[in-house]
Amino acid sequence: MFASVIIDQDVKALNKVFEYLVPPHIDINVGARVSVPFGQRILQGFVIALKENCDYDASKIKKIYGVMDDFSLIKPEHIKLMQYMCDEFHLRQTSVLRLLVPSEIREGKVKDLFEKYAVLADYDEQSLSRAKKQLQIIQKLQQEGRVLLSQLKSQFGDSAVKSLIDKNFIAIQKQKINRAPTLIDRDDKNVVLNAQQLHAVKTIKGDKTFLLHGVTGSGKTEVYMHLISQALQDGKSAIMLVPEISLTPQVVSIFRARFGEKIALLHSSLSAGERFDEWRRIFSGEAQVVVGARSAIFAPCENVGVIIIDEEHEQSYISEANPRYNSQLVAQFRARYNHCPLVLGSATPSIDDYQRASQGEIELVEMPLRANGKPLPRIQIIDMMNELRSGNGGIFSTQLLSDLAKVVNDKKQAMIFINRRGYSSFMMCRECGYVAKCNDCDVSLVYHREDNRLKCHYCGKQYKVLDVCPNCGSDRIKQGAVGTEKIVSELKAIFKDVKILRMDNDTTSKKNAHQKLLQEFASTKPAILVGTQMIAKGHDFEDVTLVGIVDADQSLYRADYRSTERCFQLITQVSGRAGRSESEGKVDLQTYSPRHYVYKFAANYDYKGFFRKESNIRKTAAFPPFSKIIRILFCHSDENVVKDELKSCYNKLLKVREQHFDDIIYMDAMKSPIKRIKNLFRYQVIIRMRLENSKQIEDQIYACTLDAPKSSVFFEVNPENMS
Ligand code: ADP
Ligand code: ZN
Ligand code: ZN
Repeated sequence: MFASVIIDQDVKALNKVFEYLVPPHIDINVGARVSVPFGQRILQGFVIALKENCDYDASKIKKIYGVMDDFSLIKPEHIKLMQYMCDEFHLRQTSVLRLLVPSEIREGKVKDLFEKYAVLADYDEQSLSRAKKQLQIIQKLQQEGRVLLSQLKSQFGDSAVKSLIDKNFIAIQKQKINRAPTLIDRDDKNVVLNAQQLHAVKTIKGDKTFLLHGVTGSGKTEVYMHLISQALQDGKSAIMLVPEISLTPQVVSIFRARFGEKIALLHSSLSAGERFDEWRRIFSGEAQVVVGARSAIFAPCENVGVIIIDEEHEQSYISEANPRYNSQLVAQFRARYNHCPLVLGSATPSIDDYQRASQGEIELVEMPLRANGKPLPRIQIIDMMNELRSGNGGIFSTQLLSDLAKVVNDKKQAMIFINRRGYSSFMMCRECGYVAKCNDCDVSLVYHREDNRLKCHYCGKQYKVLDVCPNCGSDRIKQGAVGTEKIVSELKAIFKDVKILRMDNDTTSKKNAHQKLLQEFASTKPAILVGTQMIAKGHDFEDVTLVGIVDADQSLYRADYRSTERCFQLITQVSGRAGRSESEGKVDLQTYSPRHYVYKFAANYDYKGFFRKESNIRKTAAFPPFSKIIRILFCHSDENVVKDELKSCYNKLLKVREQHFDDIIYMDAMKSPIKRIKNLFRYQVIIRMRLENSKQIEDQIYACTLDAPKSSVFFEVNPENMS
């Protein structure tokens, strides 16, 4: 028998399948971790196929040394998944391997953790009449059956314990302990599903993909939990992805309350030991419900009964670090493999997925009402241009300040949201709201401080920085944004005795810091929480009656065709934090472009209206989902190397374009907007093409990128981030 083996080394040169002979005395299965001779060394590899014949000269072929575990680490489904991912995302098998089998398992450095207990063995009490401590130990064990060895030692001293062990009076028992992430405890609510939830639960079955469109607070979580319960009843497992698990400890504890020990968590802030144990509990089938961030989609569970992606529109489901992949596509593969439903849940589905639903490719399930029967909070659009004209040049509008004062008076809570992600990127006129855009692409230009120019991230075109507004002639045109710190200091000056908390990357870098911050906020009234994207997600504070959005425009004018979509999503999500209990909620949305369509639709919670408008615009401009964008990013520490390798790739691409002139709408090479990261120079090619034949053209394009021996090359389809 012969084995096809991939070597566990993530380097370009080893991205091949190697054939080995399986000696008759070795019992081997597909998916096994094996040690194999490789050149002068012995390396670790994984068997991805077994076969009777081999294409190579059998006399020259080397033998497998041995199998390293007593079970196969990669399950059959994952072998198939690996092949799918290599093809779909243009990845190396060895890179995909790293996603499927976490390093703790692969490298064998993390071990099971044991606790040692002392138990009575062959003891003779009489002989101890003069050894008082030893006698006490025996008595304690007689009473308690077994005691932690470490506890005995600290209570009675090492020597007493040791002499009992030496005499074989007591024996040591080892017990494996499970390292599990800590969770906040809470009671399970006994919820009876309402009509719209029942409808959703009944509809979601079979092996289709469902888009669960439910407004914030409609009770999607309860639907997820019912679907998971059903899967468990059928003897199956379930996977649920959440965007950033560390930000949603509440969701996780709700799941724990319902499913107890069946839950396993997989996310990036686990310790190595925790990840090792959680992975093994899933692998063995002990834990059947996996909850985690995007990489949890690779969980080694079998017989999956349902896969859920909560907040499916979130960017975090697309990996931007190497190896780059889209977890929704992986989920779709696994759902099809297991013949189970895939549920994409959101209050603001991505335009891509809603488009698919409207085409009937996936099935739409709607939950338009809040579970508590309360209306969604009123969103008031505040025209900051007007504020300027009436002499208020500050961060806060008069309206927001007076609403904040009311919150403070009523001893309630407020959240102030700022969007730092789009920090100081675009250029805008403070008089008329004009924003500098690319002449060819209809996306906002990005300011590059380095060479003091405006650039289009889609076509690479450069523009001079503006001194006066081309629209109204004003010189109050500038780029810039305010940060959380500044907002906090201004609020402190106005509301002197009020607790004002700040939550952003700087204040939450320590472990559990965000949890502490949120707890402090929960227990203080009145209080104001100022934060970035982090405060937008899933928090359920009963006394938040006001949400202020300081700079809604920041998300609007990012140099990204998805920026309007992101803006809509953010407003809806942030607004969902207000008015979650008895007291009514309100949202103050400050903008310099009050007439932009996104605000009208968002303020009316009109997702469908927004979708129609936005998808029309995308269609006209030939942006995804009506086209495909490919970015090929080259990185290297030597700028000339990147340039040369990019150039030779580009020359090949020109030929591909010639062949498909009608399908490729746009193609150009340029420096990346962030020209250097960690001392690596970054250059990129951007290609936009029609959807017809696009997979075939994509593969052809990919082939042009393979011959870049020095640079790291990243190949992305419809990337979330072009910087
Ligand atoms: P979503 O995820 O759709 O934004 P949640 O699942 O967080 O909404 O639900 C919002 C609130 O409604 C939660 O406090 C939840 O406990 C409650 N809830 C959900 N379903 C019901 C129900 N059938 N009856 C009463 N309350 C419910
Ligand atoms: Zn452009
Ligand atoms: Zn102007």
